[in-house]
Amino acid sequence: MDAPVLIAGGGPVGLATALELAHHGVPCLVVEPRPEVSWLRPRAKTTSARTMELFRRWGLAAVIRDRAPLPVAWSDEAVFATGLLGREITRFQGCFGLDLTGDDRVAEPGQQVAQPLVEQVLRDAVAASPHAALLTEWRVTGLREDGTGVTADLTGPDGTAKQTRAEYVVGADGSRSATRAAIGAKYEGADDARPNFNIVFRAPGLADRVPHGPAVHYWVLSPDQPGLVGRLDLADTWWCIAQGVAQEDGEADPLRIVRNLVGADVDAEILATDPWRARMLLADRYASDRVFLAGDAAHLNPPWGGHGFNTGVGDAVNIGWKLAAVLNGWAGPRLLRSYEAERRPVAARTIEEAARNMATLAPELTDPRLAGTGAEFEAARPGVAAAVHRSKDGEFHSLDLVLGYSYAGSPVVSDGAGERMPHRWLGPNESRYDRLGREFTLVGDLSTALAADFVKAAAGAGVPLDTFDDPGDRLMLVRPDQHVAWAGDAGDAVDARSVLARTTGRRL
Ligand SMILES: Cc1cc2nc3c(=O)[nH]c(=O)nc-3n(C[C@H](O)[C@H](O)[C@H](O)COP(=O)(O)OP(=O)(O)OC[C@H]3O[C@@H](n4cnc5c(N)ncnc54)[C@H](O)[C@@H]3O)c2cc1C
Repeated sequence: MDAPVLIAGGGPVGLATALELAHHGVPCLVVEPRPEVSWLRPRAKTTSARTMELFRRWGLAAVIRDRAPLPVAWSDEAVFATGLLGREITRFQGCFGLDLTGDDRVAEPGQQVAQPLVEQVLRDAVAASPHAALLTEWRVTGLREDGTGVTADLTGPDGTAKQTRAEYVVGADGSRSATRAAIGAKYEGADDARPNFNIVFRAPGLADRVPHGPAVHYWVLSPDQPGLVGRLDLADTWWCIAQGVAQEDGEADPLRIVRNLVGADVDAEILATDPWRARMLLADRYASDRVFLAGDAAHLNPPWGGHGFNTGVGDAVNIGWKLAAVLNGWAGPRLLRSYEAERRPVAARTIEEAARNMATLAPELTDPRLAGTGAEFEAARPGVAAAVHRSKDGEFHSLDLVLGYSYAGSPVVSDGAGERMPHRWLGPNESRYDRLGREFTLVGDLSTALAADFVKAAAGAGVPLDTFDDPGDRLMLVRPDQHVAWAGDAGDAVDARSVLARTTGRRL
């Protein structure tokens, strides 16, 4: 065996899987063809509050915030206007969980930060880890699974081939996943017919001319070019998405698109273009015995609402701690089988919600009167603003999905449990989550006989169990991913041994 876990793909999800394994002391190798992150392809910009909480467990939330060019306090707003420099129609506040600093509901607010920067922070953390390694300029080209492990074929830059052997493989190799094909899983679902065209551009001085103040999204409801625009930094670099623009039209004149979205003939240097189409696809299964799909390899959703990579980080943490628990010898194979049962429904719900967000985009919301005289604009504005709030609120305010997904019904969660442990602050920047151990933690009134039963049962079964005395709360068995595996009251008749057996996927 080279490393016990091989990860195909070093995008955000593969790197996150590696860091979760490393967090539990398990060696792993990430194989990734791209030598560098794609700086000019800033797809995801919304890192959710939940993802930031998960990054905080690895000590990386603060690093990302320090390196993100847009501070979280800079803006939590999305403005809808006739152009970047045009007339304002309406706005949303408290978008993407960016307003949650210090809020008891979360250990971290969201963060606007371009995907390549997140990937670079994760790459740096992998490079600094004694357990994880990243092999760039190689790709996984074949997998053969047997009773004791998986043999993987790797192909290097000049066509050189080599093999590696692992006990488990995580396929985080994106939408065209070779891993998905290798285990015979298939995407099911549909493509959106409408094309989109992303542009990254530099426009010195443009920010000074924007009349709307700071906002993380400026939606443009212009009949000339509907879409959205945002800043990549507080200097001169911007991104935009032109909705309904086919690749050939976009490539023919990207500057015209920028100017139409801005609403003025600004000077802009086009730095990169990236055409894409939204897709709503879910793999029919997530795993074989030893190979697990995570991130875009398992599911694709339209980006509206900013959920794709965030859902993938949730996958990474879920499969990461479970593989580590099995490899570290204290969990059984049923724990691995719970991965699909827990994560596939979350992806299905995310796809559904993102598709709902996509049903109404800028082209559907524009009204020709918005481009007319002041009186025409004012006549149209209330109706358009109402339609915007009706159709787009869920896109900017989705904490029920981001924080509220539950693993209730999972085979490794006790009845009535499965939620994320409720958060609260214990002191300035001291989160209740910071008191959790890396493996399971017993939280609640530790003076009870039931708490003592759990501690004894865990020691007897070799399950690592930290404790956090928090007498104000119910007794909870909290998993490494901060979800509650079991909760009860001191007086309940509970067999702690069987709870631990179930929640670690073992037989009694
Ligand atoms: C316009 C746009 C905006 C978006 N905005 C957001 C947002 O705001 N928030 C959000 O959460 N998501 C967003 N997304 C989605 C997000 O970009 C993806 O969900 C995310 O990149 C998925 O990460 P991943 O690691 O699963 O896959 P990828 O990022 O696709 O990474 C897969 C990696 O695998 C590598 N690879 C491919 N084949 C192989 C192989 N055979 N062997 C080894 N490696 C291989 C690739 O080089 C790549 O690095 C957006 C997407 C788009 C298009």
